[in-house]
Amino acid sequence: MKFILTKELGKLARWLRILGFDTVYYKGDNLGPIIIQALREDRRIITRKKGIRYLQKRIMVVSSEEVQRQLKELQKKLDLDIKEDKIFTRCTVCNELLEEVKKENIKASLPEYVYKHQDCFRQCESCKKVYWKGSHWDDIKKGVSQLRGR
Ligand SMILES: [Zn+2]
Repeated sequence: MKFILTKELGKLARWLRILGFDTVYYKGDNLGPIIIQALREDRRIITRKKGIRYLQKRIMVVSSEEVQRQLKELQKKLDLDIKEDKIFTRCTVCNELLEEVKKENIKASLPEYVYKHQDCFRQCESCKKVYWKGSHWDDIKKGVSQLRGR
Protein backbone atom coordinates (compact mmCIF):
# COMPACT_ATOMS: atom_id res chain seq x y z
CA MET A 1 0.00 0.00 0.00
CA LYS A 2 1.55 3.30 -1.13
CA PHE A 3 0.51 6.80 -0.15
CA ILE A 4 0.63 10.41 -1.15
CA LEU A 5 -0.19 12.98 1.52
CA THR A 6 -1.20 16.61 1.19
CA LYS A 7 0.80 19.33 2.89
CA GLU A 8 -1.14 19.62 6.16
CA LEU A 9 -0.17 16.03 6.99
CA GLY A 10 3.61 16.36 7.37
CA LYS A 11 3.75 14.57 10.70
CA LEU A 12 1.65 11.70 9.48
CA ALA A 13 3.92 11.38 6.41
CA ARG A 14 6.93 11.07 8.69
CA TRP A 15 5.19 8.42 10.77
CA LEU A 16 4.14 6.37 7.77
CA ARG A 17 7.77 6.37 6.63
CA ILE A 18 8.95 5.34 10.10
CA LEU A 19 6.52 2.42 9.82
CA GLY A 20 8.03 1.53 6.45
CA PHE A 21 5.29 2.66 4.08
CA ASP A 22 6.21 4.20 0.74
CA THR A 23 4.91 7.73 1.31
CA VAL A 24 5.13 10.82 -0.88
CA TYR A 25 4.63 14.11 0.91
CA TYR A 26 3.25 16.76 -1.40
CA LYS A 27 3.81 20.32 -0.23
CA GLY A 28 2.08 22.16 -3.07
CA ASP A 29 -1.41 23.66 -3.11
CA ASN A 30 -2.47 22.57 -6.54
CA LEU A 31 -4.15 19.15 -6.52
CA GLY A 32 -3.52 18.39 -10.21
CA PRO A 33 -0.03 16.90 -9.77
CA ILE A 34 -1.05 14.85 -6.76
CA ILE A 35 -3.84 13.19 -8.69
CA ILE A 36 -1.57 12.43 -11.63
CA GLN A 37 1.11 10.97 -9.38
CA ALA A 38 -1.44 8.92 -7.41
CA LEU A 39 -2.69 7.34 -10.60
CA ARG A 40 0.71 6.84 -12.19
CA GLU A 41 2.25 5.23 -9.09
CA ASP A 42 -0.92 3.59 -7.75
CA ARG A 43 -0.93 5.58 -4.52
CA ARG A 44 -3.74 6.30 -2.14
CA ILE A 45 -4.29 10.00 -1.42
CA ILE A 46 -4.54 10.92 2.27
CA THR A 47 -5.73 14.42 3.03
CA ARG A 48 -7.65 16.59 5.45
CA LYS A 49 -9.20 18.57 2.63
CA LYS A 50 -12.83 17.79 2.16
CA GLY A 51 -14.74 17.97 -1.07
CA ILE A 52 -12.21 16.73 -3.59
CA ARG A 53 -14.41 15.54 -6.41
CA TYR A 54 -12.10 13.25 -8.30
CA LEU A 55 -11.02 9.70 -7.62
CA GLN A 56 -13.26 9.20 -4.62
CA LYS A 57 -12.20 5.60 -4.18
CA ARG A 58 -8.56 6.55 -4.01
CA ILE A 59 -8.94 9.39 -1.51
CA MET A 60 -9.16 9.07 2.23
CA VAL A 61 -10.01 12.13 4.31
CA VAL A 62 -8.73 11.98 7.88
CA SER A 63 -10.70 13.97 10.42
CA SER A 64 -8.39 13.94 13.43
CA GLU A 65 -5.71 16.58 13.99
CA GLU A 66 -3.47 14.44 16.13
CA VAL A 67 -1.04 12.08 14.46
CA GLN A 68 -1.64 8.98 16.60
CA ARG A 69 -5.35 9.29 15.97
CA GLN A 70 -4.79 9.82 12.29
CA LEU A 71 -2.83 6.58 12.22
CA LYS A 72 -5.69 4.86 14.03
CA GLU A 73 -8.09 6.15 11.39
CA LEU A 74 -5.91 4.81 8.62
CA GLN A 75 -5.56 1.51 10.37
CA LYS A 76 -9.30 1.19 10.75
CA LYS A 77 -10.38 2.30 7.30
CA LEU A 78 -7.57 0.86 5.22
CA ASP A 79 -6.69 -2.17 7.28
CA LEU A 80 -3.14 -0.87 7.52
CA ASP A 81 -0.75 -3.74 8.09
CA ILE A 82 1.91 -2.53 10.54
CA LYS A 83 4.85 -4.92 10.79
CA GLU A 84 7.54 -4.49 13.39
CA ASP A 85 10.30 -5.61 11.06
CA LYS A 86 9.39 -2.80 8.65
CA ILE A 87 9.99 -0.08 11.20
CA PHE A 88 12.92 2.14 10.24
CA THR A 89 13.48 0.58 6.86
CA ARG A 90 12.78 3.85 5.06
CA CYS A 91 14.27 7.33 5.30
CA THR A 92 11.93 9.72 7.10
CA VAL A 93 13.30 12.65 5.12
CA CYS A 94 13.23 11.42 1.53
CA ASN A 95 11.30 8.12 1.55
CA GLU A 96 14.19 6.04 0.15
CA LEU A 97 14.85 2.55 1.49
CA LEU A 98 17.66 2.30 4.03
CA GLU A 99 20.72 0.10 3.65
CA GLU A 100 22.55 -1.54 6.51
CA VAL A 101 26.02 -0.06 6.99
CA LYS A 102 29.07 -1.07 8.98
CA LYS A 103 29.78 1.47 11.65
CA GLU A 104 33.45 1.69 10.69
CA ASN A 105 32.36 3.17 7.38
CA ILE A 106 30.35 5.99 8.89
CA LYS A 107 32.44 6.72 11.96
CA ALA A 108 33.06 10.32 10.93
CA SER A 109 29.36 11.14 10.86
CA LEU A 110 28.55 9.68 14.30
CA PRO A 111 28.74 11.19 17.76
CA GLU A 112 31.39 9.36 19.76
CA TYR A 113 29.04 7.88 22.36
CA VAL A 114 26.80 6.50 19.62
CA TYR A 115 29.76 4.91 17.91
CA LYS A 116 30.78 3.30 21.18
CA HIS A 117 27.40 2.01 22.29
CA GLN A 118 25.48 1.13 19.14
CA ASP A 119 26.16 -1.63 16.64
CA CYS A 120 23.32 -1.63 14.19
CA PHE A 121 23.18 1.21 11.66
CA ARG A 122 21.23 1.96 8.54
CA GLN A 123 21.83 4.71 6.05
CA CYS A 124 19.84 6.45 3.35
CA GLU A 125 21.63 6.11 0.03
CA SER A 126 20.08 9.31 -1.18
CA CYS A 127 20.54 11.90 1.60
CA LYS A 128 23.12 9.91 3.62
CA LYS A 129 21.21 10.31 6.89
CA VAL A 130 22.22 7.59 9.37
CA TYR A 131 19.71 5.79 11.62
CA TRP A 132 20.33 3.70 14.70
CA LYS A 133 18.32 2.27 17.58
CA GLY A 134 18.58 5.18 20.00
CA SER A 135 16.29 5.93 22.92
CA HIS A 136 13.52 7.10 20.56
CA TRP A 137 13.39 3.56 19.21
CA ASP A 138 11.62 2.26 22.33
CA ASP A 139 9.12 5.14 22.21
CA ILE A 140 8.29 4.25 18.65
CA LYS A 141 7.88 0.57 19.46
CA LYS A 142 5.62 1.54 22.31
CA GLY A 143 3.55 3.77 20.01
CA VAL A 144 3.28 0.94 17.51
CA SER A 145 2.18 -1.57 20.13
CA GLN A 146 -0.56 0.82 21.19
CA LEU A 147 -1.67 1.17 17.60
CA ARG A 148 -1.88 -2.56 17.25
CA GLY A 149 -3.92 -2.72 20.41
CA ARG A 150 -1.51 -4.74 22.50
ZN1 LIG B 1 17.11 10.17 2.90
